[in-house]
Amino acid sequence: MADRKLHPETIAIHAGRGIDPATGAVAEPIHLSTTFQRPASGEFAGGFDYTRSDNPNRRALEHALAAMEGGVAAAAFASGLAAAAAVFQTLQPNDRVVAPLEAYHGVIRLLRELFGRWQLRIDFVDMPDLEAVRKAVGPETKLIWTESPSNPTVRLTDLAAVAEIAHGVGARLVCDNTWSPLIQRPFELGADLVMHSTTKYFGGHSDVLGGALIVRQEDDFFQALRDIQKIGGAVPSPFDCWLVHRGMQTLPCRLRTHCENAQRVADFLESHPGVARVHYPGLKSHPQHALAARQMSAFGGMLSFEIKGDRAAAMALPNRTRLFTRATSLGGVESLIEHRQSIEGPESRTPATLLRLSIGLEHPDDLIADLERALAG
Ligand code: PLP
Repeated sequence: MADRKLHPETIAIHAGRGIDPATGAVAEPIHLSTTFQRPASGEFAGGFDYTRSDNPNRRALEHALAAMEGGVAAAAFASGLAAAAAVFQTLQPNDRVVAPLEAYHGVIRLLRELFGRWQLRIDFVDMPDLEAVRKAVGPETKLIWTESPSNPTVRLTDLAAVAEIAHGVGARLVCDNTWSPLIQRPFELGADLVMHSTTKYFGGHSDVLGGALIVRQEDDFFQALRDIQKIGGAVPSPFDCWLVHRGMQTLPCRLRTHCENAQRVADFLESHPGVARVHYPGLKSHPQHALAARQMSAFGGMLSFEIKGDRAAAMALPNRTRLFTRATSLGGVESLIEHRQSIEGPESRTPATLLRLSIGLEHPDDLIADLERALAG
């Protein structure tokens, strides 16, 4: 695909875009029509008949998603979890999935609460521990699900090593790359499928939900995903596609600042006497810093830290920030702070004193001053 020879900044601006032939519009028109006229011949020459099956805005977005991630094809969904669910829906009863003990809690609930009932067998492992992964896989393993860095203690999975383990038993490696678009290239490390919650960095402005599945080859597996997308119907609206596609144009630029700011904030927190531990792969103190440096080209905009004190103190700290908003989610232009354990519910493995930060695009000095004031009590 010609797009893949270009740099990400250029792909972000041009992939899936062109001058509208009908009007000359430079910005992409939004096609809200749910239905498309059937030509007299009976064939849908333009390829569109009904918007659940396909829509010009979705097609443009999918083209851009595949180009950005370095894959060959993509399917867009109404949310990240709808995309994840589609992956598990390709499996048969009694198939096994190896999944991480630590990942976005919604994916864990999806597996435990929905797919457990559909007789999918899930082996949860400590994914950074390669020996544990090796022990967990077997002939019935069809898929290994990874999320790297993981939510919320920012631990890494050695994707190349896990790809080898997966392929050794004929399983596929899926990487939820939501936290690391562009700065981590799972296909180059052996992944077969990349998933994104485009709600996060792709959309980039906390105003649209979306999910994406991108594949390295257009085979039967992708066709199964495409069927689930169209028949299951968890598709994004044309406006949602348009918003994600628009957000993507600035993704490479935004991401640079997210990463620079996060490094500054992580350095500050690590030097603060009120902080017990900072989880950020860009810190030399991160136990997997070397793997991060090998596997990622930058260290991302997400970090978490544990305060010295108790749960009550951790719950109270976000009440004192003025720039960081107390809110869940991530990847938007604004900085967010969250007490993660109380959001994840009773099964959470997250330390009670941990706060998660999504670092936005404000000036880092202002973010640091905000945290300094909040930490002072
Ligand atoms: N994966 C990760 C890593 C996430 O952080 C999230 C949401 O926070 C999801 C998946 C789910 O995405 P969505 O909220 O778009 O369904």
